[in-house]
Amino acid sequence: MADRVRRVVIVGGGTAGWMTAAALSKALGKTDTAITLIESEEIGTVGVGEATIPTIHWFNTLVGLDEARFMADTGATWKLGIEFRGLQGEGSAYFHPFGTFGGPGDAAMFPHRLIRAWNVGEAAPIEEYSLTTQVARAGRFAKPVPDPRSLLSTLGYAFHFDAARYAAHLRVLAESRGVVRHEGRVVQVDRDAATGNVTTLQTATGDAIGGDLFIDCSGLRGLLIERAMGAGFEDWSHWLPCDAAWAAPTRAMERRPLYTQASADTAGWRWRIPLKHRTGNGYVFSSRFEEPDAARDRLLAALGEAVLAEPRLIRFTPGRRRRAWVGNVVAIGLSAGFLEPLESTSIHLIQSGIGRLLSLFPRADASPLLAEQYNRLSAREFEEVRDFIILHYHRTQGRTEPLWRYCQQMPIPDTLASRIDQFRASGRLMLATDDLFRDASWFAVLTGQGVRAEDHNPLLDVISDADNARQLAAMRQAIRSAALQVPLAQ
Ligand code: FAD
Repeated sequence: MADRVRRVVIVGGGTAGWMTAAALSKALGKTDTAITLIESEEIGTVGVGEATIPTIHWFNTLVGLDEARFMADTGATWKLGIEFRGLQGEGSAYFHPFGTFGGPGDAAMFPHRLIRAWNVGEAAPIEEYSLTTQVARAGRFAKPVPDPRSLLSTLGYAFHFDAARYAAHLRVLAESRGVVRHEGRVVQVDRDAATGNVTTLQTATGDAIGGDLFIDCSGLRGLLIERAMGAGFEDWSHWLPCDAAWAAPTRAMERRPLYTQASADTAGWRWRIPLKHRTGNGYVFSSRFEEPDAARDRLLAALGEAVLAEPRLIRFTPGRRRRAWVGNVVAIGLSAGFLEPLESTSIHLIQSGIGRLLSLFPRADASPLLAEQYNRLSAREFEEVRDFIILHYHRTQGRTEPLWRYCQQMPIPDTLASRIDQFRASGRLMLATDDLFRDASWFAVLTGQGVRAEDHNPLLDVISDADNARQLAAMRQAIRSAALQVPLAQ
């Protein structure tokens, strides 16, 4: 049996680097394994990324964050979902809520009740069946309760926060558990001639840092995973044509919505994210369809207020690293791939990478079997999230700009095409047990994007159409009353 890993080296001190450092220092706390994190202030971090999804609770619990303290430290606000505006033409809007539709314990079957009623010309809009949407629209907030009989168990929430402050908060935690931060720019990566594994990193100031396991959190450049290990990149720009973003903060909103706003625009979409101390704004766009200067002007015009800092341009290539783990290098964060932030999934992808690494944590020989399993799971997850994002671009009506026309007409991945076909024909979603987005999310977005199911699960036919309609009306009423009991958010 090979020896244990005794030296872990993390390259990068962005959100990914410090999340990894916090999680590994917790997991390895009682061993003698040293964790070093190298980062370069000169290079800096990507500096955006403010919206999360509810899986963040898993990570925060794992590393032992106190919710109230972390929220205060990071300027965090509650997030109950995303409002998509204009994807079905100017003036259109729909809500992708966290939590589930309908009553407690009915998440998988509820869409079928609604589809059935819609197909006989009854039932109110989807939003009336989501308690989370109702409270979000009314500026109210409550946490889900664990009681499976309570409507409040159907709620879900995540956070908007300042990702740089989140990284700083985690840094304090990681350093208190023994992680050593090393300031410096890595300029050379030494590898073992026989195995190809990385042995030592050399910095611009002449330091040499050796390790057994290297975690590449160096961001889009993929310093170790790509430049040293040549993992390869699967480019998805033919499906996700946006390749750049302008980001600019404005002052904090007086009345902060409890959700992210995502508004379709000429060559992409704009985000608006309410934090306590500022508002995060940006325009994700395709440089194939709009020049960066014009995109910048478009963002500033849409904001219609003074920005607190000059807009910053960030360029990226959508896709994933073919192998996120090669030899003794594991890529976590933007170094593993980039999926644009339409569904706020990057921080989730960081934490699920960390979760996989903890489950498959290697010995010093870095077994290729573990790497294979890691890569298989990582590819599947990226592809599932990719499909969900493509759905938003592909199924749009009422937008005629060249980017949107391109997306409407582009061939889509078979996995997504068959999911849409299956839903349309039978109302089924064909989810795998480990899919990130569950029935409620797919149902909300498919419905919001105008995909109508023609049939429902026939198990429901034990009751009549009239009884189904009566039950739905009662459910709407119960949700309306429950929403009024939820206190207004602070
Ligand atoms: P980075 O932040 O780029 O950090 C890289 C680190 O590596 C830095 O510390 C850098 O100094 C270091 N480094 C690089 N090279 C070297 C070297 N040679 N030597 C030493 N150190 C080095 N995610 C979400 O979950 N929600 C969102 O709403 C969201 N919005 C986004 C919007 C945009 C426009 C973009 C581009 C991304 C968004 N993201 C979002 C993604 C999110 O910003 C990132 O996932 C997250 O910040 C992680 O970045 P990272 O740590 O992998 O990389």
